[in-house]
Amino acid sequence: MNVSVVLFTSDLRLHDHPPLRAAGDGNGQIVPLFVRDRAVDTAGFAVPNRLAFLADCLRDLDGALRERGGRLIVRSGDLVEQVCRVVTEADADEVHMASEASAHAHRRERRLRRALEAQGCRLHVHDTVTTVVAPGGVTPASSDHFAVFTPYFRQWSGQHLRGVLGAPRVVRVPDGVTSEPLPSRADLRGLSEGLAPGGEAAGRRRLSHWLRGGVAAYEDRHDDLAADATSRLSPHLHFGTLSPVEVVHRARAAGGPGAEAFVRQVAWRDFHRQVLAARPDAAHRDYRTRGDHWRSEQEAEADVAAWKEGRTGYPVIDAAMRQLRHEGWMHNRARLLTASFLTKTLYVDWRVGARHFLDLLVDGDLANNQLNWQWVAGTGTDTRPNRVLNPLIQAKRYDPDGGYVRRWVPELAGLDVPAVHEPWRLTGLERAEIDYPDPIVDLAAGLRRFREARERA
Ligand code: FAD
Repeated sequence: MNVSVVLFTSDLRLHDHPPLRAAGDGNGQIVPLFVRDRAVDTAGFAVPNRLAFLADCLRDLDGALRERGGRLIVRSGDLVEQVCRVVTEADADEVHMASEASAHAHRRERRLRRALEAQGCRLHVHDTVTTVVAPGGVTPASSDHFAVFTPYFRQWSGQHLRGVLGAPRVVRVPDGVTSEPLPSRADLRGLSEGLAPGGEAAGRRRLSHWLRGGVAAYEDRHDDLAADATSRLSPHLHFGTLSPVEVVHRARAAGGPGAEAFVRQVAWRDFHRQVLAARPDAAHRDYRTRGDHWRSEQEAEADVAAWKEGRTGYPVIDAAMRQLRHEGWMHNRARLLTASFLTKTLYVDWRVGARHFLDLLVDGDLANNQLNWQWVAGTGTDTRPNRVLNPLIQAKRYDPDGGYVRRWVPELAGLDVPAVHEPWRLTGLERAEIDYPDPIVDLAAGLRRFREARERA
């Protein structure tokens, strides 16, 4: 009987899963395998919040496989070695997995292909599992990737999407292939208190709920910080508990301007992946250098510490940084503001901020995180690289009633606008009653430093 290994990576689901469908087509046996890749751990990506979400995902996947007569096999170590070992144990003929954009994923795929070939086993790598349109699936006439989102999105929108695949009804796993115990969230320390639960079932529930309700108002409300009116699907898209192709099909079926605006955001995910696939170095180096001599974390130690702790004296920035620590997630507008504040107002290297985000974000994702940081720092794909977001103006626009600040900065919970955004306006006596720092930087001075640095470059 034909035996296939399905190697799960960032696609921890059974619905709309092309590798699983391809492996199951022959009606043979399947080994559903997840390898906790040592290289991912040593590269600093295994942080508590994402490990907890991952543990939920693996348990959920195992449960869903058991309902179908199967189970999940979990191994840890060098991914290539582990896959080859399982192939031998199961006497498998082929391995199916999803394509991914990073340099690490490309190297891993090449090594795995060579090692499997030496064993007489074929590797099948499937596109449109972790993206809607594969990197390189649409390209401009003169380059291997798009460097500007709007023309990318125009072509992306015109692509014909494959249909959504159902989950398999039965999964037959060969006997005798052993698994390590599944990891558990309970074994982890240092988690954000408000961390969302992971797993395909939770992701599907959230998507259905979102498409029935919130998405209709998305266009008008997605930037409203206090309303919290975005989908919060990012960790599910990151771990692949939801298929981006299915998300787009279902959002388009829901229809309306809210759904259209939402699909546009999902396209940003693909956009960053096609940039990273073409320029893998952009994960760590400027995509477009502007000659910056950023301040390092050591040079700006006190400023960086205040930023990380949410004690900059700018309430909207502090609210956002505290949300990040508490939930392992942050609203997109807040990500823009805090990243602009660190890179442009404090003139600190974007890599310092990107690292901190990756340490905490449950959706922390190499392509989305690094390239969004570069976008904000003006070293990426923003066509206006010198724009600086003023936290006061932004706070008044996107948190007009101060509800977001009051939620996350309890010291200021008793204040109304405008004081909640500008506590330094209070009288000396009122100010003395609040344990909240003075601003660590003068916005005008920060702006001058940034402009002068860019002019010198
Ligand atoms: P929604 O507004 O509901 O959008 C739907 C989906 O579209 C998101 O789940 C996400 O997958 C995608 N999306 C939305 N905005 C963007 C964007 N700007 N770029 C790429 N994809 C987008 N997103 C991550 O998934 N992981 C990260 O590590 C990450 N780091 C970021 C760092 C900075 C400095 C900035 C400015 C943005 C970052 N983003 C990142 C993008 C964006 O902020 C989040 O995807 C979004 O806030 C997630 O919330 P949501 O699911 O409610 O989004």
